[in-house]
Amino acid sequence: CGIIGYNGKGEALPVLVEGLKKMEYRGYDSSGVAVIDNGQIKVVRASGKIKALEDKLKTTPLKGSIGIAHTRWATHGAPTETNAHPHTSYDGKISIVHNGIIENYASLKAKLISEGIEFKSETDTEVVAHLIARYYNGDLKSAVLKALKQIEGTFGLGVVCSDEPNVLIGARRGSPLILGIGNDGDFYLASDVSAIINHTQKVVYLDDNDVVQIKDGGYSIVNMSSHEVQREVQDVEFDADA
Ligand code: GLU
Repeated sequence: CGIIGYNGKGEALPVLVEGLKKMEYRGYDSSGVAVIDNGQIKVVRASGKIKALEDKLKTTPLKGSIGIAHTRWATHGAPTETNAHPHTSYDGKISIVHNGIIENYASLKAKLISEGIEFKSETDTEVVAHLIARYYNGDLKSAVLKALKQIEGTFGLGVVCSDEPNVLIGARRGSPLILGIGNDGDFYLASDVSAIINHTQKVVYLDDNDVVQIKDGGYSIVNMSSHEVQREVQDVEFDADA
């Protein structure tokens, strides 16, 4: 239902949790966050209210300046902690958050299972994490592009990889995704501008089939053919009383 991502100079966790709260009005049944903490992906998830996630985070604080978070509105699989996002690949290297529906997940899942991959959740989303890991060969962006070519359906995606702890990838098709450009090399991904409006009003509304890579204080956007595309940077009108 809601996605927020951060790649910048500060701590990711407070930005992510605040973003989740700003998107609560949209409705959700569970939530979760992943941060690259000392070169390792650490995930905390909870069913129910964001308060439940915050309580868990008190005993498991996540430290790091890159991460993704999600509020889930279940379409495939019950609203449990195991089905909550982020979902992590079988090798533990790749973690993703997803809005939308992977229409061909059943056939992709059957193929991955036949290759020996064990699934942990009942979601349509989990196939995407494993597919990206299957294609991963040192370049997260190209692995994401290869995986997305196999996918039918709708997605807003945020992706991180422990082997590239300076990279945050976003992608969309049929679900909204916004790139927020902050000060001093701070970048945000969000499905809803309300999640990041406290940090920046400079945004790029990504087009369908755009893949954005945020890396080392800059960003670039490519289409499904890996060709770089230019998108307009816009100022969001922000009504402070709203
Ligand atoms: N289809 C995914 C799931 O059920 C994503 C749902 C969402 O957009 O929150 O986990």
